[in-house]
Amino acid sequence: MPDSVSELLQRNERHARRFENERFEGVQDGQAPGAVTVCCSDSRVLQDEMFENRTPGDIFTVGAIGNRVFEETAEGLAVSGDVLYPLVHADTSTAVVIGHTGCGAVTATYKDIRGEIEEPAGIRHCIDLLKRRLTDGVAALPDGFEESEAINRLVEYNVDQQVAFLRESDDVPVDIDVVGVVYDFQDVYSDERGLVHVVNVDGVRDPDRIEEERPELAGRVRRLWTY
Ligand SMILES: [Zn+2]
Repeated sequence: MPDSVSELLQRNERHARRFENERFEGVQDGQAPGAVTVCCSDSRVLQDEMFENRTPGDIFTVGAIGNRVFEETAEGLAVSGDVLYPLVHADTSTAVVIGHTGCGAVTATYKDIRGEIEEPAGIRHCIDLLKRRLTDGVAALPDGFEESEAINRLVEYNVDQQVAFLRESDDVPVDIDVVGVVYDFQDVYSDERGLVHVVNVDGVRDPDRIEEERPELAGRVRRLWTY
């Protein structure tokens, strides 16, 4: 675990040595990544590693607690520039929202909806934004779940909401493929830690319908909560 800047710099030296200069040829002056991923910043969720992203120029990566795709702007809620940039300026045609089991941001939002919690202003801001899209989900959660089970269902709901926000926004080109997945390292969906499970494709949440419409995803679609 890197607990100092010098340790990080040593890792970076190894990175540069391993990459060799030719890895950047063809992308030194521009980029056209095939996909943009919007992943929770949680240190346990390895955004690049999960998709074997080791080639410069392949994937535009956005990290935000609670994998939020929107921001409060002077004109109201809008898709964050961090997410929008590759979609409107770099010909990126696929957007993937990545939630994860046991998400701390979703947990904090869940707790705040059920009774206010205290956080510094910056975190408060993130929770307040998530709350706008998660309050209805908390109200709709079936009774009888333990807290961790409720939260993992809300993780799916949050991914659904982020996918919906992208699809509803006039800023996002209409032909973008928007997919929502959940990264599991807690054996909630399967015992294969690190696997992502598809929960939403272009707004469709029904696993059977997704597999029917997108046979190439067969076997990778799984939901805890169908509502
Ligand atoms: Zn998280």
